[in-house]
Amino acid sequence: MAYLGTPTATAEIIKKYGFAFQKKYGQNFLVDANILEKIISCSEITRDDCVVEIGPGIGTMTQYLAERAGCVVAIEIDKNLIPILNETLKEYDNVTIINDDVLKVDINKIAEVKNNGRPIKVVANLPYYITTPIIMGLFESHVPLSSITIMVQREVADRMQVGPGTKDYGALSLAVQYYARPEIVMNVPASCFMPRPGVGSAVIRLNRYDEPPIQAKDEKKMFAIIRAAFNQRRKTLANALSNGLSYKDETGNTVNVSRQDVCGALDKMGLSQSIRGEALTLKQFAELSDLL
Ligand code: SAM
Repeated sequence: MAYLGTPTATAEIIKKYGFAFQKKYGQNFLVDANILEKIISCSEITRDDCVVEIGPGIGTMTQYLAERAGCVVAIEIDKNLIPILNETLKEYDNVTIINDDVLKVDINKIAEVKNNGRPIKVVANLPYYITTPIIMGLFESHVPLSSITIMVQREVADRMQVGPGTKDYGALSLAVQYYARPEIVMNVPASCFMPRPGVGSAVIRLNRYDEPPIQAKDEKKMFAIIRAAFNQRRKTLANALSNGLSYKDETGNTVNVSRQDVCGALDKMGLSQSIRGEALTLKQFAELSDLL
C-alpha cells in the first residue's frame, strides 16, 4: 500500500472519491511524513498495544499505527470517509473502523473487548472543535489508558501545561494535570496539513499517572469547584463559588456553599478571602474541596 502522507498522494485519493472537506468536522489532514514518523515514535507503540485513533480521516496515520500496534480501533464520524478507509486500510487485518461520533462511543467497552480491559493508548490528530470534551471524557470516564499522544491547537497544548498565575491557566490545565503528566513534543506548522488550519498546532503527550500525586476525596466535587471558579475567573473565589457552584452529591442532592463556608475554608488554608481561583494550585483545589 502506498503511503498517503504526502500532498500528492492525499490529493489523489480526495480526487478519486470526489471527497469534499467538511469544516464543521475539523478536517485538516496530515501530509508530512516526518511529522507522522515523529508522532508514532513518541507514542512508543509496540505489538503489545491496542491503539484507539480518533478521527482517522483518509487513514494516513492509521497505516503507520497498524504497522506497529497489535490492534487499532479507528473512530470516524464522517460517513463519506468510510469507503476511502476501507480501501486505504484493506491490507491491514488488525484495524477496526467504527463510523460514529467519538463522544458517543463507549471506549471502556473497546478496551474491554479488544484489550481484555488492559490500558490502551490513544493517538490522534484531533478535530480541534472538540479537543476539550474528548480529553475530559477519556479521563473522567476512567477509561484504562496509559498515554494519549495528540495533535492539538498550539494554544490548547500550552493551556494543558501551565500552572497558576498565567492567563492560560484554567479548568483544562487542572484536569489534565490531575490525571496525567503533560509533555509538549513539538510544534507543527500549518503547512503540514491539507487544507491548512488557520492556527498553529502542537503534538502533546499525556502520560497517565498510575497513582495521581494529588487526590481529592470527592473528585467530582473538586472539578465542580474548579469549573465554577474559572467560569467567573474575574470574581473572587468566595463570590464565584457562592453564586455558581452547582454540584450533586452521590445521593443526588444539590450542594450549595455560602460565602461564609468558602471564607472559613480559605482561612483554614491560610489564604486570603479575596483570592481568585486562578491563583490556586491543584493541591489547594483538592484541599478546598475536602474542606467544603
Ligand atoms: N487523522 C487524520 C489525519 O491526521 O490526516 C485526520 C485528522 S482531522 C484533524 C480530524 C478527523 O476527525 C477528521 O477525519 C474528522 O472527520 C474526524 N472527526 C471530527 N469530529 C469527530 C467526532 N466527533 N468523532 C469522530 N471523528 C471525528
